[in-house]
Amino acid sequence: MESTILSTTKTDIMDQPELLGNLRRIHSHPVTQDDISRNAIKVLNVLNQAGYEAYLVGGGVRDVLLGLKPKDFDIATNAHPEEVKSLFRNCRLIGRRFRLAHIIFGRDIIEVATFRGHHGEGEHSTQQQHIDYRDKSGHSKDGQIVRDNVFGTIEEDAVRRDFSVNALYFDIRDNSIVDYTDGCEDVKRKVLRLIGDPEVRYREDPVRMIRAVRFAAKLDFRIIEGTHEKIFEMGDLLAGIPAARLFDESLKLFQGGYGLRCFELLREYHLLQYLFPSVEKYFLHHDDDDSADRFIRQALINTDKRLAIGKNVNPAFFLSVLLWGPLLELKQRFLTNGDSEFESLHKAAYDVIRKQQSFTSIPKRLSFMMKDIWFMQRQLHKPTRKHALRTLRHKRFRAAYDFMELRLKIGETQLLEAYNWWTEIQQKNEHDQHEMCNELKNEKKKRRHPKHKKKSLEFTVSEK
Ligand code: ATP
Ligand code: MG
Repeated sequence: MESTILSTTKTDIMDQPELLGNLRRIHSHPVTQDDISRNAIKVLNVLNQAGYEAYLVGGGVRDVLLGLKPKDFDIATNAHPEEVKSLFRNCRLIGRRFRLAHIIFGRDIIEVATFRGHHGEGEHSTQQQHIDYRDKSGHSKDGQIVRDNVFGTIEEDAVRRDFSVNALYFDIRDNSIVDYTDGCEDVKRKVLRLIGDPEVRYREDPVRMIRAVRFAAKLDFRIIEGTHEKIFEMGDLLAGIPAARLFDESLKLFQGGYGLRCFELLREYHLLQYLFPSVEKYFLHHDDDDSADRFIRQALINTDKRLAIGKNVNPAFFLSVLLWGPLLELKQRFLTNGDSEFESLHKAAYDVIRKQQSFTSIPKRLSFMMKDIWFMQRQLHKPTRKHALRTLRHKRFRAAYDFMELRLKIGETQLLEAYNWWTEIQQKNEHDQHEMCNELKNEKKKRRHPKHKKKSLEFTVSEK
């Protein structure tokens, strides 16, 4: 019954799949066991040998088909979480809304999820399904999924996934790909298509809009009609998503190696306003000046480059770049009200971060670092004999210096002299560093609180 399709290249696949109802089983495709992590194969084998069905699913299959290196390997199975746990000593069950098994191999974690089924009053239920919660609908009044712990069949599991290209199952028993949603066809056409009715699927989980943008950026896929327009119509549903989840999603957007494209698409789809509203507002207020946009883009270009060569990045750095415009704008308001330079900056930093917290929560360790980067700009701009060495030894010096370099790159040429000085001092030995500092002037004592003073320029030069 099984048909074999000859194929040669990674995406030249799946022309005439074997059809069984909605199921396509594809035997000729480029995914091999060599593309899959050994730990994932171990887990698949143990589950299969215990008599369960188990498949590699999601990004692990999609990325291999596209010739990319998967970020992680997820497994879907008909074994229930407790059954999975009984098979592995190194297994931990996690999650309340989604009960998942994590099989832990040192730093490598393989996530095993039991097939999810439909909620509803039994019209879709199967023998193996059981319902963990009393409320069977699993949806809130406005259609959002609030729980998702009904077990089901592989076919039910497939149609509950977000995009067709994320619903491909690799079966190591015969090296075939199981496809219920035309995902293989969509991989070939390079399109991102939500499974089912886009309106219903976005309503169930509005974060899928952000995921659409992220995958379109990462895979260089086109978001197909339907899946595409509904984002413009339904973006405001993101306002109901908890800030902690949106923070995680924003990290994936900007620290996933395709940050620049994600940023462009977020703006194109008018979604930035739901993640970083102060930044979107800043763009609106300054539509005649593209320096904030260039600043953010340059930071993302650097981030993407660092990630491409395996270097790590600290999210606080990008967040400090992203919120720099809103910070300066707010600081200017405090200055205009007569607050001192120092006070204005500190109050603005506090407010900008506090307001942002209700959209994407920012962990304390990151917000401290963001403030350090911002506060150090002033010392970097005007090194003084008294403070320069302390600044140089500060644990955030390098981040603050990189931030300054970025400001210079987008045209803040008044920083050049100070930037060169800091570049030079980093290359000196300790003795020469002291010498360089001794040649500096000491900071002049300023008069306290000149209430009438409108603006202090030395720190807000880029501000328009
Ligand atoms: P990557 O790991 O490269 O970001 P991925 O596709 O593996 O991409 P994950 O977030 O790891 O994405 O999720 C694994 C799989 O779980 C997805 O491929 C998709 O099938 C399913 N999934 C994840 N999030 C959702 C969601 N919000 N709605 C429906 N299905 C989802
Ligand atoms: Mg994944």
